[in-house]
Formats: sequence, C-alpha cells, structure tokens
Amino acid sequence: MSGQWEVVIGLEIHAQLATRSKIFSGAATAYGAEPNTQACLVDLGYPGVLPVLNEEVIRMACKFGLAVNATVARRSVFARKNYFYPDLPKGYQISQFELPIVEHGELYIKDADGNDKRIGITRAHLEEDAGKSIHEGLDGSSGIDLNRAGTPLLEIVSEPDLRSAKEAIAYMRKIHTIVRYLEISDGNMAEGSFRCDANISVRPRGQKELGTRAELKNLNSFRFVEKAINFEIERQIELIEDGGKVVQETRLYDSDRDETRTMRVKEEANDYRYFPDPDLLPIEIDEEYIEAVRRTLPELPDVKQQRFVKEYSLKVSDAAILTVNRALADYFEAAVAAGTARAQVVANWVIGDLAAALNKDGLEIVTSRIAAGDLSGLLDRIDDNTISGKIAKEVFDAMWTGEGTADEIIEARGLQQITDRSAIEAVVDKVIVANPSQVAEYQSGKDKLIGFFVGQVMQETGGKANPGQVNTILKEKLAR
Ligand code: ADP
Ligand code: MG
Repeated sequence: MSGQWEVVIGLEIHAQLATRSKIFSGAATAYGAEPNTQACLVDLGYPGVLPVLNEEVIRMACKFGLAVNATVARRSVFARKNYFYPDLPKGYQISQFELPIVEHGELYIKDADGNDKRIGITRAHLEEDAGKSIHEGLDGSSGIDLNRAGTPLLEIVSEPDLRSAKEAIAYMRKIHTIVRYLEISDGNMAEGSFRCDANISVRPRGQKELGTRAELKNLNSFRFVEKAINFEIERQIELIEDGGKVVQETRLYDSDRDETRTMRVKEEANDYRYFPDPDLLPIEIDEEYIEAVRRTLPELPDVKQQRFVKEYSLKVSDAAILTVNRALADYFEAAVAAGTARAQVVANWVIGDLAAALNKDGLEIVTSRIAAGDLSGLLDRIDDNTISGKIAKEVFDAMWTGEGTADEIIEARGLQQITDRSAIEAVVDKVIVANPSQVAEYQSGKDKLIGFFVGQVMQETGGKANPGQVNTILKEKLAR
C-alpha cells in the first residue's frame, strides 16, 4: 500500500541562540525565572521604545552559515511579521523574510542504505521568540509570561529533501550536533531551546509536483518528531486512498494520544503583511568579518569523525558515537593521549562502561566522576597486565564512587593480577585433582569444558589469575 507513495518532508528548526541577553533588548535570557521578571519595556512592546540589535546573534548566525557551507548574506534585513496573539504584545514578530542572513546551505545524513545523502538548507534567519500563555494553576484564567519574548532564535529551514521520519530525525540530530559544536545553542530540548516544525506531504511515486502538505508544530523531542511524522504519513495516505484530499493546515501532535489534530488552516505569507522593520538598520557584513568568524570555527563533526577513523583506526560506528558531542570527543582524545591503551580499547570503555555510569547517575561527560586521565590510568593497568579486563570493571566502579585512582584501588584491594607461572600452575593442578570426572569428559573430546576449568581457576584466585595464561596452562596440563 504505502509502497506506491513517496513521503516528502521539510523541517523548520528553531534553535535558541545562547546569548546572555535578548536579541533586541538587554533583558536576561536565563531559563526558569519567575514569570515576567526578565522582560523589559522593549519585550513588553511598549510604545516609543526602540529595539537595539545584539551583535552576538550576527556572529552566531554567521558561524552556522559557514558550518553548513552556506552563503552568508553581505546584507540582510529584519522584517515585521504581523499577527495578533496574546503572547505577542507588539502585534508583530521581528523576523527576516526576503533577505535572510544565511542561504543555500547543505549537510549530509546517512540514508536507509547507509549512503551519504545531501540535504539542502534553504535558509536560516534570525528572529525573536514570542512569550508564552499559561493556563495551569490560574483558576480558569490564563496568564502571559513574557520572559521568553525577544529571546533570539535561528530558524533553519530545510529543502523538502527528506523522505522518511528516520531521515528527518537524522537531519535534525545533525543540526543539533552542529549548533552545539559551534556553541551557538545549548540545544536543550526539554527547555524548548531546540524544537522543530515538520512539513509533510505524500505523492504517488514518480510524480514530479509536491503533494499538499500539513505542518506539525512545535515538536520538542526526537521521539515525538518520529512518532508524529509517522502518524501523519499514515493519516495522509489513508485519507487520499479513501478518496479524500489533504488540506494545507497546521496540526498539533498530541503525544498522549499519539495522533495529530487540526490547529488552524494554514496562513499564507501574505497574511502576515511582512515589511522591513523601520526601527532596525539592515545587517551589513564584510569579507573581513566573515573571515574572522571562519577562523573561530571548531573542527566539525563530520571531519572529526573521519579523522577518528583514520587517526585512531576506530570502527566507523564508534567514531560516529564519540563525535556526536564535542566534549565526549575531547574526553576520548585526552584519554588516548594520556596512556598506552589502544584507542579502540579506550573507545570501548568510553562508549560502554563510562557512558552507562554517566547515564545511571544522570551526569554529562563534563561532570564525569572519572576524569579522562584517570580512566587512562586504569586502562594502562590492563595494558601492562597488572589487572584483567574483568577486574578492571571492579576498579572502575570503585573509581566511580570516589575510592581513588586505579593504582590506589588496585593496591588497597590487592587486585594485582597473578602472572607468576608457578603460582597459576599450582592452582591449575589443584583444580584438576578436584574434578576427575570433568577431566575424563574433557579428555574424551568435550572441549567446551575448558570454560568450566577456567572458571574454577578464576574462582580459586578471586578472578586475579591472568586469563590468557590460565587457558594455556590448562590446555597443556589437560592434554593427554
Ligand atoms: P512557509 O512559508 O509556509 O513556512 P516554506 O515554503 O517556507 O513555507 O516551507 C516551509 C518548509 O516546508 C520547508 O522546510 C519546505 O522544505 C517544506 N515544504 C514546502 N512544501 C512542502 C511539501 N509540499 N511537502 C513537504 N514539505 C514541504
Ligand atoms: Mg515557515
């Protein structure tokens, strides 16, 4: 059924820019303040006040444009987008329309076959956020909180190049990674700093013109984006197959019921009577400015990922995980540099035990209880055969709870690996004598029993015997 339909998706992502003050006023942007304590006369839309542009947002938008290989406009213009809503006291939102600051960008995602797929970025423009209506806890009335009014946003608009919910998520994750690498947005989705509107249509496979789209508003988690898009695709296909027509409209995703509902019939651009804001000068940027910003660009995720594969011989999938987050990548590199363990071993620990421990305690890599150098110290002890990988897990747990460095814990708990051949031989002999029937079975061809013997030796030695040596010695002694 759905095989004959092609899905078309374009995303409009709103990234809140990480400035300390608002885009056109000096009010603070910090999250979580008491309602209306961070809204000044400009944000409240008082008559006679004038907006003053926060220069930082230009630098941030410019950074983004360069990172996605876009054109940064030498001249861009703020426009008024007029509409009435209680959370918008001025009666218009200052945005950019005809001349946005960033145009014609691109990035690459993996498609369903694992190949690189180019997604066009139509534009990215600067705008101010609106306030927020509050309906809860007010005895049937509604309140308005204007703290968020005037918060700077970068709206990043994609071409309709995405062909499934999975691709949409991959694209959104990529943008999320990029804005965090650039440190232009904290990307905090729970606080609304990173959210997206998804435009979705379907068309018969092979048809050139696009189908009529619906727009899903304000999706603020990757999981909801995926669910909402998939619901909407099914809805549209069923509707058309039942002889109906998709109408162009704005819909809301209800996560409790996992469905989308009509919010309002879609307005056209001309409903907003856009016009250049006479209170603000056009933004003019010269080459020198752009080049200065270019020099501040960090190594970007794709490049870093490729370098990790080449320089450290990491598995591609591991390099991808490590480079999603710049701080995680830094941690990994610091741990590799500090010790002797192979990079892939370091990667396994960072992605495995460390990530699990962080996750369990709700911590981020920057607040990790084990610093990169200390993890490296632990891995060095595996590398030089002081402890086995298994004992290392125990040491790791003790490090995590603050018992000290790997060396201190190994010393205090007497965890040094037994590598002395005669000591291991003595235990092996003992185990062989104690288990005659298993010995007989093994010798009659039941090779798998080697695991049983290894287990016995390990138990006898508290897990401290060198596993490689145990294996070798057992095989020698059990051979007839
Ligand atoms: P608007 O001004 O109504 O927001 P735009 O033309 O700016 O509309 O497009 C907004 C987003 O919708 C873009 O990401 C674009 O790629 C996407 N889009 C446009 N037409 C379609 C369509 N028919 N199906 C899916 N997505 C679409
Ligand atoms: Mg739009």
